[in-house]
Amino acid sequence: MDKHDKSMTAPPIVRVALDTPLRRLFDYLSDGQPVAVGCRVRVPFGRQALVGLVVALATESELPADKLRPVTAVLDEQPLLDEPLLNLLTWAAGYYHHPLGAVLASALPRLLREGEPARASELWFSATADGEAALASGALARAPKQRELLARLVAAGPLSALQLGEHLPRWRENLASLQQRGYADSRVLTTEDAPAAPTGTAATASGPPLSDDQQHALSALQDGLGRYGSFLLDGVTGSGKTEVYLRLIDTVLAQGHSALVLCPEIGLTPQLLARFRERFAVPLVALHSGLTDRERLQAWRSAASGRARIVIGTRSAVFVPLPALGVIVVDEEHDASFKQQEGGFRYSARDMAVVRAQRSAVPVLLGSATPSFESLHNVAAGRSQRLSLPRRAGAAEPPSLQLIDLRGHAVHRGFSMPLLQAMERHLAAGAQVLIFINRRGYAPTLLCSGCGWIAPCRHCDARLTIHQQQQRLSCHHCGADEPLPATCPRCGHGVRPLGHGTERVEETLAARFPGLPIARFDRDSVRDAADLEAAIARVNSGEARILIGTQMLTKGHHFPDVTLVGVLNADQSLFSTDFRAAERLAQTIVQVAGRAGRAGRAGEVLVQTEFPQHPLLMCLLEDGYGGFARRALTEREAAGWPPYGRLALLRASGIKPQAALDFLSQARQLAGETPGVQLLGPVPAAMVRRAGRHHAQLLIESRERPLMQRFLQQWLPQVEQLEAGRALRWALDVDPLEVF
Ligand code: ADP
Ligand code: ZN
Repeated sequence: MDKHDKSMTAPPIVRVALDTPLRRLFDYLSDGQPVAVGCRVRVPFGRQALVGLVVALATESELPADKLRPVTAVLDEQPLLDEPLLNLLTWAAGYYHHPLGAVLASALPRLLREGEPARASELWFSATADGEAALASGALARAPKQRELLARLVAAGPLSALQLGEHLPRWRENLASLQQRGYADSRVLTTEDAPAAPTGTAATASGPPLSDDQQHALSALQDGLGRYGSFLLDGVTGSGKTEVYLRLIDTVLAQGHSALVLCPEIGLTPQLLARFRERFAVPLVALHSGLTDRERLQAWRSAASGRARIVIGTRSAVFVPLPALGVIVVDEEHDASFKQQEGGFRYSARDMAVVRAQRSAVPVLLGSATPSFESLHNVAAGRSQRLSLPRRAGAAEPPSLQLIDLRGHAVHRGFSMPLLQAMERHLAAGAQVLIFINRRGYAPTLLCSGCGWIAPCRHCDARLTIHQQQQRLSCHHCGADEPLPATCPRCGHGVRPLGHGTERVEETLAARFPGLPIARFDRDSVRDAADLEAAIARVNSGEARILIGTQMLTKGHHFPDVTLVGVLNADQSLFSTDFRAAERLAQTIVQVAGRAGRAGRAGEVLVQTEFPQHPLLMCLLEDGYGGFARRALTEREAAGWPPYGRLALLRASGIKPQAALDFLSQARQLAGETPGVQLLGPVPAAMVRRAGRHHAQLLIESRERPLMQRFLQQWLPQVEQLEAGRALRWALDVDPLEVF
């Protein structure tokens, strides 16, 4: 074809998804450079230049050719996202009714969204011959951290900054010292040139022999490899679920495939990562919120290039490309953090994992000691296969659960006598004790004993929490904070704390058990993975005798010497209006109870309550989580609540008190009558004023998912046109976790 001919052919149209609130794609003219679906392009948008993803190539556009602007640059030679992943994200945009451009943006690391190369060079570090010799001759005895780093470089070969950062916090200083001594050097390699991933199973340590239950589960899972299948690994805490994941992944690696493992808040689960590292010598990347943008990009590249064979990550890792994906594991699948609850794209990573597995024709394994009702329902409906591990691994006995009736006992600063006595008994026996209280800070309320004034948040319908150590009052809803006043700002009288938080419990127990070191686990005392590791180390070494913590303590940590768990305030959730509150409470109690008595020592769990006759607590006590779930599911079915019905929530907030309600009322009117779909509301949110905005919501419910989807599809575009919505923030939450 000569030049003349080429100019005669119609220019191909590039259809681009851009991260804008507009629910549509944008057409551009190709600049003549080859471009494929899944590649990024830089394009003019108004007066801006944006980076977008090509989602289709076309020969015609609805716009006339002279209105189309050309692509400024093609940024990728090869697609960033392969077809199954692009299809998954397109499907997700439809299911959650969110613009495709915004959905794609949330699936990519920020630096890729800003146009950084997808394949790039990075620094790799290795030991020099001098370094190896020095290690062998026992040098660096006085610098154990440097020695540890050197040993790792010698053992593992070249390691990237990302890999080093995962293993050894503060490695940079030590590496600089090693380089000065001539023991280590660095070179620049591209992701593709980086040391090849070893194939084969590469297990560096083998696990314990499996129990019959574990073996049975593993065999079923191994038989399921190579095609889609959904499995629920329903195993009590400490039953060896993680061991089953490890064995299964071992098989997957041996078949030349890779594994994606999703877990809640991985920055806070160093123990899980450590177990994977100990077991597998293959490159593994962790994707979590503690990474810098640069680290995140490198982890993404490592996964997408096929170098990393195992990806362990939180929510958004479900969208990471992994060539040769062989299995997806979702650990603690009931955990609420798998649902994105902020912003516009409110997806469930667990549900996306199932859809991704379907599209990639691989099995998905959901594991939990307290499965979500959705997953239990899927088992009952035959969509998922249940594999159960009803017994604890090794010699560990299940803990015994008992209620303490708070009405019948003197209570001192939140602690009943029976709980204090039990603590004394267990501590005297040399064991550790764990106290769970789901509230951080010193106390949830500051009260004036003169006029009854209560310190309020200026921006929310909420009270300020006292943080005694920092001498601050802070709002746990909007983050506002101010100095702790010594006297009542209204009448000048003295003020005092009301109620208890972790900080106050620590003070109480320090006074009650002087000389016994305490480890506190909450967001104020444990800010990152390094803090958590330090706190866990204090517990595991036996130095700390009492553990106090929030929800953070319920998440998968193993504390083998804890034999008593005390739950201080279970009652808050018993009478919540949210239909999921009971499920949450049961999960929390069972999960925190699971920390006790792991290593062959029987555990005791004491739950303080003013409502020992409450049916939820009685059912949990008598029938365990399984019985509780069966009963609660029957109630859900009668009421048509999920998982039997489908919900979506339209939430709105505005500066003016009525604005959100007005907008939602108009939205409701637009809906008209749709058979099989009910709208409830609008109503003010449970906390109306939050962060200075007034919140309201409109609930949509339907028995059938397709009915709900069809309704939303025709309704939302109309809602978007509403003038009243322009000055507001609003978002649709499909399958919301909280509805009040
Ligand atoms: P889960 O993930 O269900 O909480 P883990 O896999 O972490 O359980 O196992 C709990 C503990 O029991 C771990 O210390 C693990 O090493 C150990 N364990 C797991 N399986 C076995 C087994 N078959 N025999 C002995 N110990 C086991
Ligand atoms: Zn506030």
